[in-house]
Order: sequence, then C-alpha cells, then structure tokens
Amino acid sequence: MSYTPEVPVIHDSVLSLIGHTPLVRLDRIAREEGLECNLLAKVEGFSAGGSVKDRIALRMVEEAEREGRLIPGQSVLVEPTSGNTGIGLALVAAVKGYRCIITMVRSSCPLRSSPPLTSFRLQPEKMSREKENTLKALGAEIYRTPTEAAWDSPESHISLAKRLVESTPGAVMLDQYNNPANPDAHYHHTASELLAAVSSVSSTPSRPSSGKVDVVVAGAGTGGTLSGLSKRLREANPALVSVGVDPVGSVLARPEELNVLKEGESAVYKVEGTGYDFVPGVLSHASVTHWLKSSDALSFTTCKRLIRTEGLLVGGSSGAAVGAAIEWLKSAEGWEAAGGKKGANVVVVLPDSIRNYITSTWLNDDAPPLSAASPAAAHPLSNGHK
Ligand code: PMP
Repeated sequence: MSYTPEVPVIHDSVLSLIGHTPLVRLDRIAREEGLECNLLAKVEGFSAGGSVKDRIALRMVEEAEREGRLIPGQSVLVEPTSGNTGIGLALVAAVKGYRCIITMVRSSCPLRSSPPLTSFRLQPEKMSREKENTLKALGAEIYRTPTEAAWDSPESHISLAKRLVESTPGAVMLDQYNNPANPDAHYHHTASELLAAVSSVSSTPSRPSSGKVDVVVAGAGTGGTLSGLSKRLREANPALVSVGVDPVGSVLARPEELNVLKEGESAVYKVEGTGYDFVPGVLSHASVTHWLKSSDALSFTTCKRLIRTEGLLVGGSSGAAVGAAIEWLKSAEGWEAAGGKKGANVVVVLPDSIRNYITSTWLNDDAPPLSAASPAAAHPLSNGHK
C-alpha cells in the first residue's frame, strides 16, 4: 500500500493548508513520449483553495495588513481575477473576516458606453460557473464583465474593480497584476518547495537526478508564477531554462512575432487563467528563456490525457503547460536542453484542478478521446523507451 498517513497535526485554520503541494512524476506520459528526462508535475490543485493562486492571495493580504492598508473586520477586498485569485482571496477573507468583491470576465455581452454598475451582474460564460459557485459559497460578491472588453475599456473587469473601489467605503484593491507580493509568493514559497523536493531525492541508476531544477515550465496569466519561480530557481541553478506558455490569441509571449496569428488560428481561446491582451507589471520577460504558444485543442486533449493516464484531476491550463512542454522537449532545441538528458529535472506547474471545470463542456463533451495526444513515437534521437 503506497498511502502514508500524515503525522497527525491540528492546523490553526485552513490557511496553513495553502501551498505545500506535491511534486509528482509523469512517468507514464514521459515513457509514452520517449523522453529521457524526469518529467515532474507541481500539482497545485492540492492547495487549500485549489490553485496556484492561493499563496499569492494570502501573501498579498498579509503584506497589506502589515503595511496597515488592510484592517481586519473593516476593509473590503475588491479584485479583478480570472477566478482562482478570487477563490484564494475569498478563502482568506472568509477566515480573516473581510468582505470580498470579485470582478470576473464573461463572454458575449454587447458593449455599451459607461454601463451602470448594476448591469454587470450577468451570466458567466468564459470563466467557469464552477468558479463562480465556489466564490459564492465562500461569501464573495461577484460581478461579471464582457470577455470582449479590452483591459483598459470601462467595461473590463479591471476598470470595473477600480470603479467599485472608488464607490465602496474601506475598499482596497490588492492588484495582483502589479503587486510584488504576487511573484514574491512563488519566489519564497513555491520555489522553496520545489528546491526542497528536488534536492531531497537521491540519484540512483534506475532513477537518475541532477539534484536541481533544470527546466521550469509554467503558463502565464499575470506571470507571477513564472517570474517568481524563474528568479529563485535561477539563483539556485544559473543554467535554469525557464519556459513560459501562452495561449494562441494572447500577447504575453516573446519575441512578439510569436503572438501573430497564423492562418486558420483564432484570437479567441477557451482555456482559463492564462493569456491576456496586455502585459501585467509583475511579468518579468527578462526571467524567461523560452516562450511556447498553446492551442485550446492541445490544452484540452493533454488535460484529458493527464487525467486518464496519470490520474491527475487537473484543469485546462495544466494541459496547455504539459502539452507545450512535451512538444518542446521533443523538438531539437528542447531535446538538446533536457528532453534527451537522463536525470534532467523538468518541472511543469499544473495550476488548478478539475473542480473548476467539472461540468464544463470541454471536459464533458464526447470529443474523440486522446487522439491528438495518443502515445507518440519516441523522439528520433531517443535511445528508445526505458
Ligand atoms: N492557470 C490558471 C488556471 C490560473 O487561474 C492562473 C492564474 N490566472 C494561471 C494558470 C497563471 O498564473 P499566473 O497569474 O501566476 O501567471
């Protein structure tokens, strides 16, 4: 039996169950793909609120409390988010006793100029209903905004949050897009967890390990995960390769030519949590060595594959990160860097869980299972499956 019961501990609150997420080998997928490296997944769905954003929510709140910007029981949290930061904040707010207002995008709403605040409480589409229900259960108040609104238009979830801050006494916007506590949470916590895990595993002939994180792959939304992880992991290993994954239709990848749509590609993407039409202040392009673009098709087929093959109940952006990582590791450049290297540790961040999408169409549909991601031939430079 492989289950090891945890040492019994009584936690003061659910907040100490934020982070401390497991690192899991994707051995079955790596073998199917003929990869020689260790393909490792940081599975963020195990965090208390269910995503990679829990740590930043707690850190942003506690930094603001230390600075005196937030007063427990008095201040009101207002945040624009694609959902997971909102869930993290609402969880922290529930435990600490703050009122919490979340603005999130939806899709397909005719735009009007200067819409009244009351017009924003409409049906969600782009960001899942599941996230909205979780937020509601945590006591957050939710406003939905049109997906097609540019980030700086009055209808965007960001502009709406700013207006709500102005009109709500005691309101504070922690602003994950520009708050240094966002990347700092990953610099101090997520990266430390990874370094501790990777250095604790000894290298054996059957399971060689460099003892370092050689490659980190993460999707970019605010870019906080990618920037914070890259900075700390590069301090530990100056040769770190840091790979950002950005959906087709988003503008975060560099060089910018990567973001130009190719024939047949659409600027609209369904994957949630990654990609933007502006570059957030916390995204440090300088810390990223490679960018990969991901399609919805790759994201969702790889997500289903992670669930079926590895039993990991993850969300769509996890599929994007793993799918893009595999394609890159099998390219000449990626194979040389890590894919073909025994003992190289390639860590892919899996940002959230199936909980956010459990009734969503991409998960529930009867689309042909796994065809795009079926066991592929080994890389031509591979020595074969080990
Ligand atoms: N995937 C999901 C599902 C997310 O919610 C987010 C956060 N928006 C990300 C990836 C990207 O994280 P970050 O904001 O740190 O770039």
